[in-house]
Amino acid sequence: MKKLFLFTVLLLISFFNGNNAQEAQKQQILFLNVKIFDGKSDKLITGKDVLVEGNRIIKIAPKIKTNRLVKIVNGQGKVLMPGLIDAHTHLMVTKPFDEAIYTYEPTYIASLATEAARRMLMRGFTTARDAGGPVMGLKRAIDEGIVPGPRIFPSNAFISQTGGHGDFDLSMTYLSPYFAGQLDKAYLFGWTITADGVPEVRKAVREVLRSGASQIKIMASGSITGAHDPLDVVEYAPEEMRAIVEEAEKWGTYAMAHAYSDEAVRTAIEAGVKSIEHGLMASPETLKLMKKKGVWLSTQCLNYSKNVEDFGVEMPANVAAKFNEAKKSAERVYKLAKKYGLKLAWGTDTFGSLEVQDTESQEFTARSKYFSNIEILRQVTSLNGELLSLSGKRSPYPDGRLGVVEEGAYADLLIVDGNPLQDITLLAKPEESIQFIMKDGTIYKNTFNPKKD
Ligand SMILES: [Zn+2]
Repeated sequence: MKKLFLFTVLLLISFFNGNNAQEAQKQQILFLNVKIFDGKSDKLITGKDVLVEGNRIIKIAPKIKTNRLVKIVNGQGKVLMPGLIDAHTHLMVTKPFDEAIYTYEPTYIASLATEAARRMLMRGFTTARDAGGPVMGLKRAIDEGIVPGPRIFPSNAFISQTGGHGDFDLSMTYLSPYFAGQLDKAYLFGWTITADGVPEVRKAVREVLRSGASQIKIMASGSITGAHDPLDVVEYAPEEMRAIVEEAEKWGTYAMAHAYSDEAVRTAIEAGVKSIEHGLMASPETLKLMKKKGVWLSTQCLNYSKNVEDFGVEMPANVAAKFNEAKKSAERVYKLAKKYGLKLAWGTDTFGSLEVQDTESQEFTARSKYFSNIEILRQVTSLNGELLSLSGKRSPYPDGRLGVVEEGAYADLLIVDGNPLQDITLLAKPEESIQFIMKDGTIYKNTFNPKKD
């Protein structure tokens, strides 16, 4: 009986009149009996209800009364928290880059990516900053509510120099798209723009912004998986990098840069890049400069907690060597970043297969070796939300805040069985521990009332 009472969704008859038809369409959902992690505080908020109307949180207060048509979710004393945000995904990279671009049909890759997005949402990730790949079509279908998935802040095509990390062409026969030789699938299908020199990079940025990107992704150094570039290579000259940043800023947004070596990280920061991806070989001086300039370090712990053989794919010897070199620096950078109080994003960079993408939530466990539970929780919610706000007017979701449970924020909410402030590994087991998932006011998982939702 008690169970029945608790699990029942009550529909109350509304009193609004017909004049208010627009308001009437917005459903209200009232969360009762929850403890709130608001994305920031290290103390759970108790004794308050949360009222969602449409796609936003409109009220957080004790004993909220509403006479509208309202759906009630009784949280049974469990923890209500913001939806998770992954600051570094590649949703379209569901096969290794060269295979995704050159081997398979684009529709096959898109179909896998659609499933990757659904699984990501069902792990509790309601937002992704996609760090490169032709993700606009998938984003459109998700935003239209046709397929389930997270909100996406797309970078779209990478901007890379010839021979850089975004130059995927193994045959090395293609002509630069800038010079109208547009034969390369990587360019044609929106994976990458290879551009050299100030005029080319300016045009490349403009093309990427035209495609709807919310931020620009620059390849600023050699990489582990790149087709051509050793890890230590510095990509782009300072004037090219500055031109990219300038073009992004003219559109009111920012550039994020893939950068490993110290010189690459420093060049990017000095050019005005706001978010350093990976950054593993940055020196203490460069990390201090990042702190001074308020630049984000968007690094990953799961990838570098692994050994070569843990990836489940055969790594060519040169790739394995580069991976091991980066791994050596990883721990040092995490510790210094914490010591200097850098702004740290939570991201995974898991790509290459659905199976690898499925390991996303293990980042929580890997990160717990270096950071406290509250630090990790802030990174994956409010701090990542702050990072996304750098997109300014280019944000695809400008109407509410992300990563917080606050009045006016988007209704991206989870209910967790157990307290992640005490046990962060709960979030690494989302199938069991995340019992309720809402994105944009729509319920995608509800084990409280499985029959009706
Ligand atoms: Zn990446």
